Amino acid sequence: MEKVILIRYGEIHLKGQNRPFFEKALHKNIIKALSGFPDVKVIKAQGRYYIENFSDEAGVLDALTRVFGIVSVSPAYKTEKDFDTVAHAAVKLMELYLDRQGGDGPVTFKVESRRADKSFPMDSMTLSSKLGGRLLKAHDRLTVDVHAPQVTLNVEIREHAYVYNESIPGAGGMPVGTNGKAALLLSGGIDSPVAGYMIAKRGVELTAVHFHSFPFTSDRAKEKVIDLCKRLTRYCGAVRLHVVPFTKIQQELYEECPDSQLTVLMRRFMMKIAERIAEKEGALALITGESIGQVASQTIESLVVTNEAVSLPVFRPLIGFDKVDIMEIAQKIGTYEISILPYEDCCTIFTPKHPVTHPRLDRIKASELLVDGDTLIEEAVGNTEVIVL
Ligand code: ATP
Ligand code: MG
Repeated sequence: MEKVILIRYGEIHLKGQNRPFFEKALHKNIIKALSGFPDVKVIKAQGRYYIENFSDEAGVLDALTRVFGIVSVSPAYKTEKDFDTVAHAAVKLMELYLDRQGGDGPVTFKVESRRADKSFPMDSMTLSSKLGGRLLKAHDRLTVDVHAPQVTLNVEIREHAYVYNESIPGAGGMPVGTNGKAALLLSGGIDSPVAGYMIAKRGVELTAVHFHSFPFTSDRAKEKVIDLCKRLTRYCGAVRLHVVPFTKIQQELYEECPDSQLTVLMRRFMMKIAERIAEKEGALALITGESIGQVASQTIESLVVTNEAVSLPVFRPLIGFDKVDIMEIAQKIGTYEISILPYEDCCTIFTPKHPVTHPRLDRIKASELLVDGDTLIEEAVGNTEVIVL
């Protein structure tokens, strides 16, 4: 008997004709996620995948639970399709389970069998009850409870027999690469990495854009964004990070435009530059970490004025989220601890004392005419550094 990992995927079942396309993407992403584990084998079967030939089970499970499109995974024993061999695996698996539980009190269980291979001589009812009998005999702590058991022993008779008693939730969503590409405006804050994660979860490939205001923002601030991006790649695969020099634009706006409008003006420049980069990268939408009312630049009026700067759709997956909920996701995906490092952000340096919270588009557009926007944008895009992560 051999230890394998069974991978289930869900939503892609729904895709009818497109199913092979989704499965192929998922297969590729699984292989990529496991590239650090030598000799590991990824095997495609009807409606699922199996991982074989691994030694670091915990490591492989951890990597798999970050692959979008996977609904759940189960470590399983793969055995011959022979009752005694299956029963032996079941007894062993329950022994390990009881050891992990500790103590010596009673534990309730049930057996669930599925027989995809109809040539197997027992039907699933018979198989379940006979296995139940074997387990009761082998472990006297076990008692049967078919309605609310503490543990369910599953047996599937397919190309081989598979025995497992654990199902670990996966990341869900859809395989990255199945829903086009979008450009994430990635700051060093808590919100934008979470926004990127949420859109990538829907199968969208990411390219990232960061605005850097050297020397007002340090190399450490840039390193921080690189680290955040690396964290995201554990979920969404390779990301091209564009680091845009933003200092000159900020200084010109600072010198020429009303102080109270600075934040909104900067946000519009960011959007325009991100749109240019998106076009170059074949990205069809922009992503930001904005949420209504969180700061002055995120009132509905500000969002409308920011949006007007571009024609690509802007995805704001956090728009209705409270900060605490965003923080919780950031913690779960491992970006929080990087985001809270105290390196200054380009926006905080040029933050006006009294920012407009209800900007008027006509006034903002009039202020924009005070600088040579086209040239500034051209120059910033031209001097953008690309880092492949
Ligand atoms: P975050 O935590 O993502 O920084 P925030 O609550 O601080 O968000 P703002 O600073 O108003 O909000 O930024 C709103 C959004 O604009 C960010 O979520 C991000 O998408 C984008 N953004 C802000 N600053 C930058 C930057 N320096 N580089 C790239 N994108 C940025
Ligand atoms: Mg910010």
